[in-house]
Amino acid sequence: MTPIEEPAYLRDLPRFPLAALPTPLQLLENLSRELNGPRLWVKRDDLTGLGTGGNKTRKLEFLLGDALAKGAKRVVTFGAVQSNHARQTAAACALAGLTCELLLTRQVDYSDPRYEVGGNVFLDRLFGANVRFFDAADSDGLKNAVNELKEDEHSYLIPAGGSNDLGALGYVRAGVELANQCSQTGFQLSHVIHASSSAGTQAGLVAAFADRELDVDVLGVNVYHDDPNTLKERVDDLARAVLQRMGSQAEPADIHVNHAYIGPGYALPDEATTSAIRMAAELEGLVFDPAYSGKALTALIDQVNLGNFDEKDNVVLLHTGGVQSINVYEGAFNKE
Ligand SMILES: *Cc1c(COP(=O)(O)O)cnc(C)c1O
Repeated sequence: MTPIEEPAYLRDLPRFPLAALPTPLQLLENLSRELNGPRLWVKRDDLTGLGTGGNKTRKLEFLLGDALAKGAKRVVTFGAVQSNHARQTAAACALAGLTCELLLTRQVDYSDPRYEVGGNVFLDRLFGANVRFFDAADSDGLKNAVNELKEDEHSYLIPAGGSNDLGALGYVRAGVELANQCSQTGFQLSHVIHASSSAGTQAGLVAAFADRELDVDVLGVNVYHDDPNTLKERVDDLARAVLQRMGSQAEPADIHVNHAYIGPGYALPDEATTSAIRMAAELEGLVFDPAYSGKALTALIDQVNLGNFDEKDNVVLLHTGGVQSINVYEGAFNKE
């Protein structure tokens, strides 16, 4: 595939290369046949390479580029206990020679002895990050820790999920990469579906397609917010901020968020998700996780079964990663 030419708005921004790009675009041949609907594809952003991969790596290229340009020595970021963003930040900091401080909140009511030591937490520590946990009710504790870390002028703060208008540029690049890959493979991209939580992935994709005047429906599967409108507004605001940063006059398309697949709540597995994960594993040899990508997979399968796609559509499931936490959820699979 021909290398992507960087548009002017990206050329002058510091970017610290972390990801192995382009990530593969693969036909889900067996799953497409089984469901007997449109052709289904998977964009493998679980294979971005660094620190076992995932969607935060593309955002971190811009965020760490900025941190290094500003002379930062220490990166501070936030997330839930099993945050994939935290783990990818830890790996990126290891590569960049930066100290990494992870402030993780116990916000998921899932009891398994491995939850605070296994999966992503194990990897956070392996990459040399300093990990601190806070109870969800202890917002003062978290605030104090942040204030203390902020006192050091060499600290660089990254918001949860890396989702600001700088991080989201990683998904502008991804949107362009994906559209090029589809046309080189010989089809017109019509739908992208993915797990959405801190809005940066969806906002970046929406901004990329708006700027290029591509008519692509991006369906964000809400896996985090109690009220899906919170996510919808956040994606719209962020997409507008990103387009402005790009110097684009384009308006973002209407934001589509689906709330039907969150199950019992954020990072809590349900049977629909574990059986969808089993289906993809058995038919395609692929692994999805119960908190994020597995819920997007569930949505994809259900939307096909509901007949919500045209047979001529080409639907791309963006695999955002998250597989690192699957062992922590082993109990949910045994319950099926
Ligand atoms: C963070 C994350 C998402 C959601 O991406 P956002 O940009 O935060 O909306 C989806 N899947 C996985 C595995 C993630 O870690």
